[in-house]
This record gives sequence, C-alpha cells and structure tokens, in this order.
Amino acid sequence: MESAPKSLNFIEQIIEEDLSKDYKQEQLRFRFPPEPNGYLHVGHASSICLNFGLGLKYQAPVNLRFDDTNPAKEEQEYVDAIKKDVSWLGFEWEKECYASDYFGQLHDWAKKLIVRGLAYVDSQSSEDIAAQKGTPTKAGTNSPFRNRSAEENMSLFEGMKNGDYEEGAHVLRAKIDMSSSNMLMRDPIIYRILHKSHHRTASDWCIYPMYDWTHGQSDYIEQVSHSLCTMEFNMHRELYDWFLDQLVDVKLLRPKQREFARRNFSHTVVSKRKLLRLVENGHVTGWDDPRMPTISGMRKRGYTPKAIRNFAEAIGIAKRENVIDLNVLDYFVREDLNKIAPRVMSVLDPLKVVITNYPESQEELLKAENNPEDESMGHRELPFSREIYIEKTDFREEANRKFFRLKLGGEVRLKNAYIIKAEHCIKNDAGEVIEVHCTYDTKSKSGSGTEESKRKVKGTLHWVSVKHAKKADIKLYDRLFAVAQPEEDKDVDFISHLNPNSLVETTAFIEPSLNEAKQGQHYQFQRMGYFYCDGRNSKNQAVFNRTVGLRDTWAKIETSS
Ligand code: ATP
Ligand code: MG
Repeated sequence: MESAPKSLNFIEQIIEEDLSKDYKQEQLRFRFPPEPNGYLHVGHASSICLNFGLGLKYQAPVNLRFDDTNPAKEEQEYVDAIKKDVSWLGFEWEKECYASDYFGQLHDWAKKLIVRGLAYVDSQSSEDIAAQKGTPTKAGTNSPFRNRSAEENMSLFEGMKNGDYEEGAHVLRAKIDMSSSNMLMRDPIIYRILHKSHHRTASDWCIYPMYDWTHGQSDYIEQVSHSLCTMEFNMHRELYDWFLDQLVDVKLLRPKQREFARRNFSHTVVSKRKLLRLVENGHVTGWDDPRMPTISGMRKRGYTPKAIRNFAEAIGIAKRENVIDLNVLDYFVREDLNKIAPRVMSVLDPLKVVITNYPESQEELLKAENNPEDESMGHRELPFSREIYIEKTDFREEANRKFFRLKLGGEVRLKNAYIIKAEHCIKNDAGEVIEVHCTYDTKSKSGSGTEESKRKVKGTLHWVSVKHAKKADIKLYDRLFAVAQPEEDKDVDFISHLNPNSLVETTAFIEPSLNEAKQGQHYQFQRMGYFYCDGRNSKNQAVFNRTVGLRDTWAKIETSS
C-alpha cells in the first residue's frame, strides 16, 4: 500500500515558495554549522537530518561548516568527532568548510565597512559599552568614539590585527543605530582581540570575528541559499540581513536565514556546556558514555543511525520549543533492532535447573532460528544438556495463576527445546532457592513434529546449558537522569537529578555462539532486551551494553509513582 504523501513542513514551504518565485532548484544549497566546542548530541541530529534531508530531497549540496571563531573553546578533537558522527548518521557533505578559512575575507570586508563609515573602533571597557546599550524600551547612548575618522579607525584596527594591544583594549563595532528597537542592532561588536592560538590558524590572528559577523558572510561565500538555525537567532536575522545589504553583489545569490525551534528531550540535557560538565566531573566516562545523549554515546549504546534518522523525521521540526520524550527515540530503536538483531539467549541472573530424567552423559544440539522476523538470517545450533541456567526471577515456589513462569508443579517450555515441570527445589541456609529439580517431557522437543511438540503451555523461558555457557560482561544502562526535566527548576542544580542506578554491571552466562560476538554487533537477548557488543574485557570475555529493553518499562514506573 502506498503511503499518503507527507505534507510539507514550514521550511519546505518556504523553499517551495522561493522556487516558485526567483530561486532555481540548482541554486539551492544548505549547510550544517556546528561549533567544534563539544560532541554532537541528539538535538544536533535533528538539525543534521533537516539540512541533509533537504539536500537529498532537492538534490542540493550540503556543506559541513565548522563555525570556529572562538579559539578559547574549540579543538581538533571535536572537529574529528563531528565528522565521524555526521558520516555515521549516513550523510555526505559536499564540502568541508571552516569559518576560519574566511578570516582573511572577513577582515577585508571589515575594512570596507570602516572606509564607508559603517564601522568604528571603540576603546571603552566592556562594562561601559554594556552600560550604554540601553534597554528594550530605552534607547542606547552613542559611544564617545563613534565618530572617529575612517583613517583613525583603520590605523587602530590595523594595530589590533598586528597585536599592538591587550585583550579588551579595543573592539570593532558596526555603526548602525543605538536607538534601534532591536538591541542587537545597537552597534554590535564585530571583532575582539584574543591573544589565543586557534586550532587551525595557530597564531596567525589575534583578532577574531564575532558570530553575527561570521555566519551570514560564510553563508554568502559558500552561496548557501537557506541558512537554517534555531529560534534564538530570530532577532539576529535583522543584523544578518544588514551585513548582507552592505556586501552582497547583485550577481550572486543572497542567503536567507530562517529559524526552527530547538529540540529539548526528557531525562537528559543537551547543552554542550552541561554535557562538558558531566564529562569533566566524572559523572560519566566520557562524551561517548552510553548514557550520554551524544551521537557517539548513542552509537556505543547500540542505537542505529537509521533509528535516529527515523526519530528525527518523525518528530519533524517545529516553531515552538517543546520537550520530546526519549521513549519516542527508544520506540524507533526497537523498531529497527527488531528487524536486524539476531535472537540469542543469555541469562543475566542465573538459577541452576537440573533435569533429573535427562541422562547425565547426554547432550544434543538444537536448531534455533536467528530471527523469526527474517528467515534469511538463518539458524544456529544450541547445545542442550541435563543442567541449565534460567533467570532467577523466572522461578517461584508458589505463585498465583497469572505467573506464567516456572513454579513447583507447573510446566513451561524452554525456548527452542523441551517442556519441563518443576518437581522440587533446594535451598541454602538462608532459605534462598539455589537449585530447581525438574523433569522434561521427552517428546516435546520444539519443531520435532510430535503431538507433544505442539502442546501449548503458558510460559516460555530462555536458558543456557551450564556445561556450554560462556561468561560475558553486561552493562545495564538506564536513563541518566531520574526525572523527566532535570533543568526545569532553575534553583536546583541539574546534577542533583542524576539517576544513581543509571549503570548496573553484572556477569551473564551466554550461549556459546554469542561468545563469537564482535564489536559493533547488535543482538536481541530473548526476553531481556537489545544488547550491543562493545568489544572484550581484559579476560577476553565479550562485553555487552544494554541498548534498550524490549518494552517501555519507564512509562509504567512513572505513571505508578
Ligand atoms: P549547544 O547549546 O548544545 O552548545 P549550539 O547551538 O551552540 O548547541 P552548535 O554547534 O552551534 O551548537 O549547533 C549547530 C547547529 O545545530 C545549529 O544550527 C543549531 O541551531 C543546531 N542545534 C543545536 N542544538 C539543537 C537542538 N537541541 N535542537 C535542534 N537543533 C539544534
Ligand atoms: Mg552555537
């Protein structure tokens, strides 16, 4: 069945309208513009999917532009991580661009503004400049340096560039209107002195352009048609346009800034400053800790690029900010993993079961399908023997009729194997059950075609053979924050809402085939959730990160608490 065509989002509507007027399709060009001051997170994923998605839809090039104008916070490590993450999400950029590549051009254009009396060097302190800004209802005051001659401005600006002055001694400001109703138009600073080495231009520069002076001009240099940014830049649009008014050559395309709402997510934070704090203070193991909302964290947790793309597509873009429940992302993760993850058996909290009528010397290989959703994923062999492990929580001495797992006198099917019946159990001195003795129905083997093999019993349990099981390290990850909105109360530090149980480590018994798992492989541990192989530990045992449970357990916890 063909799905109905999706209605256009408001950005696509703008583009369609432009195409119906003065833009040609081959003029469309987009960019994704991260600042390399941290790792990309799930909010960036929305912006990446938006920009690169438009590129695919309109067959238009999309640049990866590093907005690297603040040497104090930017590093090559972040550039490398960002490139890796965008590629991993499945997108290809046309050009790898850096705002720092335009420093020379921006400097020339700044001099052009000075010559035309549209920029001046202000030698006041930042406090004085701030004090003169006025308020939204009260006009600002002109700087005493506002009417310096072009010659004087030019020589001071050259001095700034040549390193003749300390940081803060002078700034270059655009000369616009100190009484504008838009505070950003009140002679914004376009250059400041920073005696800092830059990760790409090293010590070539000691003046650095401000964001507003850089972004639109970079768009113009790259001939980006639609420069999409988040809503907080809405008020900057007037300034974006003012700068272009001074520079645009009529023969070239004039970029448009348009805004969409920043995405917020439940049970996490996405500001890079806050994420950096989690990393620096050791609350997580790094930017790629599987509990982090970063793309690298999600990768290490076992989320797939497709699930993240489908999620971004489903939540779409909005004009207003709102909080997206991370359960929605988990839904898309499960949906994708359900199709691609082979089913295996792994017991996380073992209880030994002895099948007393199964001969001690006997063992057999059972046939198990790797994915009931996809026959092409084939079968594997599963060793079965007299002693097996089941999950501790799957046995109770006594239980009511709703308990479909193993209880004394009751029957369950062992997945891909036989029906067993619990006869009695052995306890330790503390009264805890340490072993369950069962008998099995010898003709009930799954898939054997006998009447008994088709016999229906209520519960099916996963299990592993004691003799054949291997050990593996298991990391059970949960939400990083215990509350849905850790930033909601401004008087409470978000750190205090960290979920103390966001990581539980344990050792599991896994079926032998799983011991061959390689870094990067996804599995469904039957009845336990989706797990991702994250390499091997020092004992050469496989390490598995829990990606997500099979069902949404949080919804239940939250509605019942
Ligand atoms: P942060 O506040 O996390 O540091 P940022 O906006 O400063 O984010 P940038 O590297 O400048 O980070 O972002 C690159 C692009 O991604 C920008 O266009 C920005 O608007 C977009 N973006 C960042 N965070 C989000 C978000 N939560 N939702 C949607 N888009 C986002
Ligand atoms: Mg930014």
